[in-house]
Amino acid sequence: MRAMRGGGADGARMTGGVERRDFLKVCTMAAAAVGLPASAGVRMARAAEKGLKPSVIWLHFQECTGCSESLLRTSHPSLARLILDLVSLDYHETLLAAAGVQAEDALHQAMDANDGKYVCVIEGAIPTREGGVFCKIADRTALEIVDEVAARAGAIVAIGSCASWGGIPSADPNPTGARGAPQVLEGRTVVTIPGCPANPYNFLGTVLQYVALGSLPALDEQGRPLFAYGRTIHEHCPRRAHFDAGRFVLEFGDEGHRQGWCLYRTGCKGPQTRANCSTQHFGEEPGAWPIGIGHPCVGCTEQRIAFRVPMHDTVPIDRPTPPDFYPPIEAGGGGATAIGAGVAGLVLGAAAGAGAMAARRLSDAERSTPAEPTRAKDGGEEP
Ligand code: SF4
Repeated sequence: MRAMRGGGADGARMTGGVERRDFLKVCTMAAAAVGLPASAGVRMARAAEKGLKPSVIWLHFQECTGCSESLLRTSHPSLARLILDLVSLDYHETLLAAAGVQAEDALHQAMDANDGKYVCVIEGAIPTREGGVFCKIADRTALEIVDEVAARAGAIVAIGSCASWGGIPSADPNPTGARGAPQVLEGRTVVTIPGCPANPYNFLGTVLQYVALGSLPALDEQGRPLFAYGRTIHEHCPRRAHFDAGRFVLEFGDEGHRQGWCLYRTGCKGPQTRANCSTQHFGEEPGAWPIGIGHPCVGCTEQRIAFRVPMHDTVPIDRPTPPDFYPPIEAGGGGATAIGAGVAGLVLGAAAGAGAMAARRLSDAERSTPAEPTRAKDGGEEP
């Protein structure tokens, strides 16, 4: 696994063929994404150049390895290479060249050499039924391995929905008793990066902060970094204007679908799903995310939704209309100007109007049976 290490930078080129400029760019971008100053990204890049990289031990249990795949498939520049340049990936079963005794040695050497400091990354759910016999590596259960490796880690990160809360392996009837790392490691702080797959930038941002500042990002009650999971997809969805205007896709392939309208009526879980997929797309390809390619969000970051609520069932809308009032804005210059108040009034009025319109169209739509879209007065089509 030592061969996996990125090594240091040499002149303009990092080991692995990544240009130093690209390396700095992604480090500062990732820093900005997690709300850190650009200097944190620069500090991290410099530390990596000097070979000061945290040891990462990456465990795999019940999963499809899609999160590792998602990370390795990034490009422009290769995020995988950048991550490998930022950290010393000392154990990762999928990428490990060694096998058997050698692989076990690599794991224990990394743990001994970095006791209390390494980052333990967990990918995959952990089976707990019948003593955890459903997943064994080197004759030890996943439960035993995760207990031992996490106990000596400086930080624990659960990547993907399986590791965060059980994911697909935990879907009913959950024959193996699959659970997420936070449930198995009760009492420990586990940063969760749910997603099926997880967005590699959210992982990079978390690791970057830990490495650069020695701290973890602010987390919500499920251990998810707020910088990535603080808001619902619905709040930043590029199709939101169609929701507000009441223009919904009724069935795949209809005119509304071709026009890129809102997917709520086809089961989009965006209004109840906290994640940043709508702003941080996958594979660094603009539009490469479920709603971007015309599929409703399935709510893969939410334990109570994904693999539980049927894919095309609709979810309640918490806030179909804007709140009754907004927090007051402190005007530094002694009060709002008439123009400012007028603009604010227009914005609030438009938002309230759009929300009311969406609520009305939604309730109209709920009362009616899905039918072919009809031509709306404004030239668009409505349910
Ligand atoms: Fe986007 Fe889904 Fe919300 Fe429609 S319901 S605006 S597709 S997140």
